[in-house]
Amino acid sequence: MSYPNTQLLIDGQWQDAADGRTLPVFNPATGAEIGRVAHAGIADLDRALAAAQKGFEAWRDVPAIERGRIMRRAAGLMRERAEGIAAILTQENGKPLAEAKIETMAAADIIEWFADEGMRIYGRIVPSRNPAVRQLVIKDPVGPVAAFTPWNFPINQAVRKVSAALTTGCSIIVKAPEETPAAPAALLRAFVDAGVPAGVVGLVYGTPAEISGYLIPHPVIRKISFTGSTVVGKQLAALAGQHMKRVTMELGGHAPVIVAEDADLELAVKSSGAAKFRNAGQVCISPTRFLVHESVRNDFAAALARHAQSLKVGDGLAEGTQMGPLANPRRVVAMTSLMEDAVERGATVATGGARIGEAGNFFAPTVLIDVPLDAKVFNDEPFGPVAAIRAFNTLEEAIAEANRLPYGLAAYAFTRSLKNAHLLSQRIEAGMLWVNQPALPLPEMPFGGVKDSGYGSEGGPEALEAYLNSRAVSIANV
Ligand code: NAD
Repeated sequence: MSYPNTQLLIDGQWQDAADGRTLPVFNPATGAEIGRVAHAGIADLDRALAAAQKGFEAWRDVPAIERGRIMRRAAGLMRERAEGIAAILTQENGKPLAEAKIETMAAADIIEWFADEGMRIYGRIVPSRNPAVRQLVIKDPVGPVAAFTPWNFPINQAVRKVSAALTTGCSIIVKAPEETPAAPAALLRAFVDAGVPAGVVGLVYGTPAEISGYLIPHPVIRKISFTGSTVVGKQLAALAGQHMKRVTMELGGHAPVIVAEDADLELAVKSSGAAKFRNAGQVCISPTRFLVHESVRNDFAAALARHAQSLKVGDGLAEGTQMGPLANPRRVVAMTSLMEDAVERGATVATGGARIGEAGNFFAPTVLIDVPLDAKVFNDEPFGPVAAIRAFNTLEEAIAEANRLPYGLAAYAFTRSLKNAHLLSQRIEAGMLWVNQPALPLPEMPFGGVKDSGYGSEGGPEALEAYLNSRAVSIANV
């Protein structure tokens, strides 16, 4: 299967780094080097910044209806090219081909929703105290954006930022992940091929800290959007704060799944089992802390373990694979250390718990039961295929545990009681709550967290607000 080398996109041109530097890209299913990605230096970043400024000055004046037309063409190209793009994504990230295809098709949906929503950036007319004065609130694009996106959903994490920027009239430079560079490049290629003018979208790779350290303080850049770990997010938000830049932060999570006494257990196992092992658990909204009522704990744990054992783990390109390898060797090291710690502290491994084979980054779908609260897996974001289960007795106890950690991204609950569902919707400290269903992060709904999981939203009208300034204009009739 072919895999392309990835170049930088600067001022509408695909190009190598000025000094010719590249980095290797590996297939996580085999460990083999499959291609190279260009490594930008400061000279490349300077050209990308100048192009973003020029692109912004042209794009902000393109009417929303025309911006939407171009974006919808890009969505169409993603759908047309989905087979090829999915194969690239699977080779660099490891996820099963079917999941890669869903990610590619979902990108098209997201682009279209944002394209439409751009037509509804209204501003307001505010009643004036003086009949000779008209007071307007006008929404302006913030300006050139710097976006930093991770390797777990190489297309999906980039498309929300690019779509929000483009529909509001901003230009954007994306620093996409060096480990999975070709799929985000295919996304930006769709925008370029659809007719987005030169400079409006840029794409760079390199040394992450060097690029963020240069772009965030740069006067051309007016807004930062980052998706990744909380620890890096805090560093970037601090730097952005020093330079008074607008910020959206979509960071880590540790999603509780509350399975109440009256839950539909079959539904709970089916929905949270599928969500847990999707993308081998490397998902910021992955269900991670399973809080199960004492009376149903044994049945739930046994059924989830059976589900985990039934999964076909293998190369994402192979027919029938349901879970691929972890995306990089760091995750295997992290998972192994989480397992050792949990077992040492008294957890029981119901299934899995270890790496599979020597080649590639495969780790068994894992279910841990009776996990003590002080186990690392119940405190640090696991970002891997592990479901950690604990029992609870009262819903208040479960809510307190759900809210115990500094994270507040996604949460899930299964209950047949409307009273429980209402209580949970009022008390759970999370940016997103799904009750009796798996996560469905649709573009029309807000997507983002609270507390250490970040701030700002990447879905719904709130996602556009993040790329807009409100300007007050008063005009007196003289
Ligand atoms: P990491 O913290 O080094 O990197 C996370 C992401 O941030 C990567 O894409 C990386 O390129 C980028 N990054 C790192 N330092 C940066 C900097 N100074 N400036 C700009 N970008 C920078 O860790 P990792 O090993 O790649 O991933 C591990 C952890 O990251 C996971 O455990 C998970 O918590 C988190 N993560 C979260 C998401 C998410 O969707 N929220 C995605 C990927 C990783």
